Amino acid sequence: MDDAPDTTSARIARDAFAAARSGFERHRATSLDLRLAELAKLKRLILARRDEIVERVMAEVGKCRTDALIAEIIGTVDWIQWLEKNARRVLAPEKVPTPITLLGKKSLLRHEPLGAVLVICPWNYPFHNAITAIAAAVAAGNAIVYKPSEHAPCEGLVEEFIACSPLLRELVHVVYGDGAMGRALIDAGPAKIFFTGSGATGAKIMAQAAAQLIPVELELGGKDPMIVFDDAHTPRAVAGALWGAFTNAGQSCSGVERLLVQARIADRFTDDLVAAAGRLVIRSGDAGDADVGRMTAAFQRDKVIAHVEEALAMGARLRHGRVPDRDSLRVEPIILDRVTPDMRVWRDETFGPVLPVMAFADEAEAVRLANDSDYGLCASVFTADQARAMRVTAALDVGGVSINNVNMSEGNPGLPFGGAKKSGFGKLRGPEGLLGFTRSKAVLIDQAGDKIEANWYPYTAGKLQRFQRFIDALYTARGWRLPLIAWRGLRLEAFSQKPRHDD
Ligand code: NAD
Repeated sequence: MDDAPDTTSARIARDAFAAARSGFERHRATSLDLRLAELAKLKRLILARRDEIVERVMAEVGKCRTDALIAEIIGTVDWIQWLEKNARRVLAPEKVPTPITLLGKKSLLRHEPLGAVLVICPWNYPFHNAITAIAAAVAAGNAIVYKPSEHAPCEGLVEEFIACSPLLRELVHVVYGDGAMGRALIDAGPAKIFFTGSGATGAKIMAQAAAQLIPVELELGGKDPMIVFDDAHTPRAVAGALWGAFTNAGQSCSGVERLLVQARIADRFTDDLVAAAGRLVIRSGDAGDADVGRMTAAFQRDKVIAHVEEALAMGARLRHGRVPDRDSLRVEPIILDRVTPDMRVWRDETFGPVLPVMAFADEAEAVRLANDSDYGLCASVFTADQARAMRVTAALDVGGVSINNVNMSEGNPGLPFGGAKKSGFGKLRGPEGLLGFTRSKAVLIDQAGDKIEANWYPYTAGKLQRFQRFIDALYTARGWRLPLIAWRGLRLEAFSQKPRHDD
């Protein structure tokens, strides 16, 4: 059981939410156009000062320069740009058709902000994860309390960037700390919790939120499979597997963590993979000339060691790399074959540069092995047969599939990102991701006047009988249905206007 948050954390959390709530109230009437204009300013600042962001993230997370540029900058800017182009359409009030039973009325669906929401993030993409959630929450009209991970807080970085806009400064409040601070922030009663991190923490957050009936969205871990059929273009699939497994030193929620290769090509494919892995340049603090950076934290490297040592003891074969040193975060990419489904390296999220390879016989077995997991974040399928790709896509229990590509369904900001099974629920990005930061409000508009509704009092036997006839006309009548509905509806309505009525 975790300790209760201390009084200092509780006070910091309360103050942060007080500031966020007052920012929210002050900007309730601020237009969407103005909010998007401020986000556009933020986007321009990110682009102008991208090298600083890249440096900070490289220093704290240890990723190589190109990884930092692609994920932290392109992914973030792309999402803000998508909001600029699409938020007006997604957030606009929607006219909803009104059924014949409610003749004369109109229906409207409004998308409204939630209030002061809590965003808790992990350490692997510290700038991207923060700004993506903040931008969506601001576009939808919310205020935010954001807590980065204690393992890569990039202290002051988000504040430096939101300082470009008085609106963002009032709406976004950053609080630093570990899990205890996270718990204090939940105790402060956010309107909703947007959590990205591990399943174990997600379960704790959900339990704490349940006691206060706070809605939660959980973006959790994965054990993503990549399936390669024997008709796939081998060099492309090898290159895709390599990048999918080792980008960000394997510390990506949707990194490739299980490689399934059709038996006929499995040996040759693994040989090519091993040869290609041998050409990777591993170094952090690089000038754009390294492929793989270092791992971020010792506890994560120790998990890699534990998974690999157990797999080797259970009969797996080390095809590339070696068991990492305990005194370094530089971990050479590891490729294992002869793995079995009972090994942790195949079952649990490793979250490091480790790629276990398994052969499959046919399509049915590929789907069965891929779905045999507690997780269901994303998957990729490599084949020249588009019909097969679509069949396999439909059969996979995951939140996103890249066909003949890897980690790419999340490359389109218009597509929702989020998992199935123990990979969580709720979506980031895409229309669903934006709407996740809203509450829908149903509005029914009727005429002002003196009319009495048929379903209002008084109830009498005569009214009941007319309701029965109206129901028959609505749901069971054949032929002349519309005139019959109109006739019986009018009779019921006329009857209901009498203040006193005889049956
Ligand atoms: P983590 O769960 O240990 O920590 C995540 C955040 O939760 C941190 O900010 C931490 O301080 C906070 N926290 C810890 N205990 C808490 C508590 N009881 N209450 C409130 N907050 C608490 O995860 P991590 O090690 O930082 O990140 C790695 C995990 O994140 C991996 O499982 C990875 O797959 C997952 N991840 C998922 C996605 C996604 O979008 N699905 C993206 C990135 C990372």
